[in-house]
Amino acid sequence: MKKVPRTKENLMKCLCKNCPSYTFACKLMATPGNIILLIDTMDDDRLHAETMFCAYNKSQCITEEKGCECSGCKVYRENELGKTYFCTNAGGK
Ligand code: SF4
Ligand code: SF4
Repeated sequence: MKKVPRTKENLMKCLCKNCPSYTFACKLMATPGNIILLIDTMDDDRLHAETMFCAYNKSQCITEEKGCECSGCKVYRENELGKTYFCTNAGGK
């Protein structure tokens, strides 16, 4: 799997925010951090993000797999990811 570039362009393409697995409670908790990412996506491996899970780490909040939007995402196609559920599995499954 290619390393997905942590860019603002990819962040805007990410469909995680529209996903049924991304619960309302998790979105509320993640909002401040995700807004900061829109200002600076910061390519630092120590950074945790609650979005674009294929480029960062898995979620610290999403626990239930209720459907995944990744296969319809431009980032998925452009980076030939071939896996889904990056939020619940490191590197996807
Ligand atoms: S990785 Fe897939 S399942 Fe997880 S939030 Fe993103 S689109 Fe939803
Ligand atoms: S492939 Fe999935 S995790 Fe990655 S940017 Fe797209 S929707 Fe988000």
